[in-house]
Amino acid sequence: MRSTSSELNWSGTVTYGAERVLRPRSVDEAAEIVAANRRVHGLGTRHSFNDVADAPGVLLDLTGIPTDLVVDPNARTATVGAGTRYGTVAPDIDRTGFALHNMGSLPHISVGGATATGTHGSGTALGSLTTAVRALELLGPDGTPRTVSRGDPGFDGAVLHLGLTGIVTRVTLDVEPSWRMRQDTYGPLPWRTFLDHVAEVHAAGTSVCTYTVFGDEVREVLVKTRVPAGADDVTVPDELFGAPRLPGSPGDGHHTARDGSVGPWWDRLPHFPIESVPSHGSEVQSEHFVPLRHAAALDALRGLADRIQPHLHVCELRTTAADDLWLSPTQGEDVLCIAFTWQKHPDEVAALLPDLEARLAPFDGRPHWGKMSSLDRDAVAALYPRLPEFRDLVARADPDRTFASAFGERVLGT
Ligand SMILES: Cc1cc2nc3c(=O)[nH]c(=O)nc-3n(C[C@H](O)[C@H](O)[C@H](O)COP(=O)(O)OP(=O)(O)OC[C@H]3O[C@@H](n4cnc5c(N)ncnc54)[C@H](O)[C@@H]3O)c2cc1C
Repeated sequence: MRSTSSELNWSGTVTYGAERVLRPRSVDEAAEIVAANRRVHGLGTRHSFNDVADAPGVLLDLTGIPTDLVVDPNARTATVGAGTRYGTVAPDIDRTGFALHNMGSLPHISVGGATATGTHGSGTALGSLTTAVRALELLGPDGTPRTVSRGDPGFDGAVLHLGLTGIVTRVTLDVEPSWRMRQDTYGPLPWRTFLDHVAEVHAAGTSVCTYTVFGDEVREVLVKTRVPAGADDVTVPDELFGAPRLPGSPGDGHHTARDGSVGPWWDRLPHFPIESVPSHGSEVQSEHFVPLRHAAALDALRGLADRIQPHLHVCELRTTAADDLWLSPTQGEDVLCIAFTWQKHPDEVAALLPDLEARLAPFDGRPHWGKMSSLDRDAVAALYPRLPEFRDLVARADPDRTFASAFGERVLGT
């Protein structure tokens, strides 16, 4: 076990207030720490941009516990240590003949941390990464292990947990027979054309991402298309609503190949290869989810362009399929995900967010749990009808508030 003095999140904008960060090397060590400490909270790869991962007492960094990949071909599952980074295990899953249904933009993020917050990739027919969770192995407040599985009462609440129900040691994910993918680049697309066809543009491939800085156009559209089983390639159109297909980058160590070449799913779904260090910490992010039918929310945000642009790297738009998970930002309806990658101006972004979120309020804009937001408990409660049930679930799983966090109290009322 190693005690580390680093107290910052990945972007360096959140200083953890915990007394200690401990990094156990095994599930048994993790259980001993939980049993021996009054306050403990799970920590993944620290990629959240707010204090969701912080708590008093001990932060338990799960990245030291071995991945120990177990693939069950009959059940179609892959089980991994919770601290495993998607990008390190994905090629191993592929070698067994299976694939995940989707990945986030960054493969460096841990499975336990990503699924705890409803992290998503893109794809109108694809649920968030949390929807792939078949079971969680967790440690309760006294360090006793338990398993919650899909179909158990309360599973839809327990699976997107923000670290409030226990320490997750292993995660079992759905897998499917392996497949390959190509990624093509289109652009630019005039703003009005895009606004009139947001859902169709995002249905142009298996997984589509669009980029804008809220000027007169969408600069670039990345279309990731699944190659059918048994085929060498798939035909893609030469233009998308008038936007031409561009040569695209062949992949350069910073980005995965965007030139239409066919490759494994794990080397096309994320935007960055695992060996890259994308803009390490020189950014902060906020993200909101609105029903896909409310694409007009983009015009509302564009009204703030003058105030947004001085702090913006780029805004990425994606889609995610509806689910039934209690705290899921995609609960109930297919969503448009509006993700701002800001320059590392956390104070200016924090000052802008109340106005930005006011623009999204008429569209029921839900914030990403792992990113910056100004919304408080009342605003969040209005967006999550099943929040009272989640509070009850937390109270039952953690009656002495071993895993409680200031974020949970402030934003969720847990
Ligand atoms: C460059 C970058 C790109 C990103 N891209 C995307 C994207 O494409 N899509 C998207 O939706 N989000 C994206 N995010 C946000 C990110 O996916 C989420 O913030 C995610 O939760 C981070 O996972 P993590 O492992 O770093 O978790 P942490 O930030 O360490 O923790 C997040 C939450 O999970 C809990 N937790 C973590 N591990 C455990 C455990 N083992 N047991 C119990 N609780 C645990 C923590 O308590 C906390 O509540 C991005 C972030 C960055 C920095």
